[in-house]
Amino acid sequence: MAKKKKGPRQIAGLQCTVCKQFGYVTEFNKNNDQLKKQASGKSTFPISKYCKKCRKHTEHKMMKKLK
Ligand SMILES: [Zn+2]
Repeated sequence: MAKKKKGPRQIAGLQCTVCKQFGYVTEFNKNNDQLKKQASGKSTFPISKYCKKCRKHTEHKMMKKLK
């Protein structure tokens, strides 16, 4: 069994930058500060993901809205 990660975790939505649809929900560790990295352009975001609405791969940004 894989060990579960401890620590502060946050739910984030991956929002399509084309249609603004939340297609994915992801969990990330607060300590990773992905949102800050995203803002400074140092993270892997925006990432290319398949959007069901656009029916193609589009860029997705991590949004903190979801809880
Ligand atoms: Zn889309």
